[in-house]
Amino acid sequence: MSNKNTEYGVELRNVTKRFGDLTAVDDIDLAVRDGEFLVLLGPSGCGKTTTLRMIAGLEVPTDGTIEMHGSDVTEKLPQKRDLSMVFQNYALYPHKTVEDNLRFPLGKMDITEEEATEKVEYATELLGIEDLLDKKPGQLSGGQRQRVALGRTIVREPNLFLMDEPLSNLDAKLRVNTRSELKDLQQQLGTTTVYVTHDQEEAMSIADRIVIMDDGQIQQIGTPQEVYKNPANEFVASFLGEPGMNFVQTAASSNGSVHAQITEPVDLEVSVEGDVPHSKVGVRPQDVWVGPGNSPGAPRDNGYVEISKMRLETIDPLGHSYELRLERGDHSIIALSDDVPGQVGDEVDVAFNRSSIHVFGENTEALSV
Ligand code: ATP
Repeated sequence: MSNKNTEYGVELRNVTKRFGDLTAVDDIDLAVRDGEFLVLLGPSGCGKTTTLRMIAGLEVPTDGTIEMHGSDVTEKLPQKRDLSMVFQNYALYPHKTVEDNLRFPLGKMDITEEEATEKVEYATELLGIEDLLDKKPGQLSGGQRQRVALGRTIVREPNLFLMDEPLSNLDAKLRVNTRSELKDLQQQLGTTTVYVTHDQEEAMSIADRIVIMDDGQIQQIGTPQEVYKNPANEFVASFLGEPGMNFVQTAASSNGSVHAQITEPVDLEVSVEGDVPHSKVGVRPQDVWVGPGNSPGAPRDNGYVEISKMRLETIDPLGHSYELRLERGDHSIIALSDDVPGQVGDEVDVAFNRSSIHVFGENTEALSV
């Protein structure tokens, strides 16, 4: 039954995909909202592409169902799903001009020649590729080719775009420019988009919501801000952010607080709900303050907690800031700092921003603090 008013353009229910003994996608539920830009993000092999291919109809789930606008499409052929896909290795016909490449997907549609021309003109204008229409793919740069590939996706005006690492063949600068163009384009068109990448920066900049996957399972779904600021578990916390989050093992606690001990006598006390036999405290390098504790900028009364004196082991300039590695006993912490707080070998004071501390429980889940 078709129900065009449902909020979800695409809905996966209990979807599993096995290849022989290997479970590539493991019982996932995923609802893609109409008009949203949803990014599947995760390490290599986590099941992103398989999920996308099942939405496309290129793979059939081993278990579970896929619905589009309320109707079951689990076994429907790709060409019956009203969607367009762009891959990493976008295929253009080398002997056809750009215009003919753009026109080709319209050949199977029941429209007049004039309507086809209008659609090609619309996509051409939207992408700013008017000057390329007479050229062949071999005469185009990588970025231009990618734009034509996007044009081929847009021209049919499908209900759903599926994109698998579409920018990964472009050089770094072009990739950044193209992704913001892609985001603008998607907003103008309002077409529901599911986009696969393993590049967290790309995901953060382009997504309305991000689905973080690991080992065939969904670890968290949220806006870029939500998954970064409130990671649901240790995996998400450590996967997002560069350099990665620092983790400090804590002493057991049963009275609603945990102690993250770097060294005696200084420790960090964080209140958590309930008893916590084993936990870890996590702090991002951006939320670690380093400096001489008696300096005017020292964050004593600023919601920071002093944790320890640590030895400054390395200072790596990153251009806009410095990456510092600090050690004490077996503990090592990475901090990002606007200034150089001392010289390698110096003992410096280290403090954590209290409002940015995360605590993870025995099963790696985030605890309320
Ligand atoms: P990447 O970023 O490397 O493309 P991914 O997250 O997209 O990774 P998938 O391509 O979905 O991951 O693969 C998930 C798992 O399923 C991997 O272990 C992969 O080797 C396996 N796999 C994918 N397709 C097949 C297939 N056709 N036959 C057998 N195994 C497969």
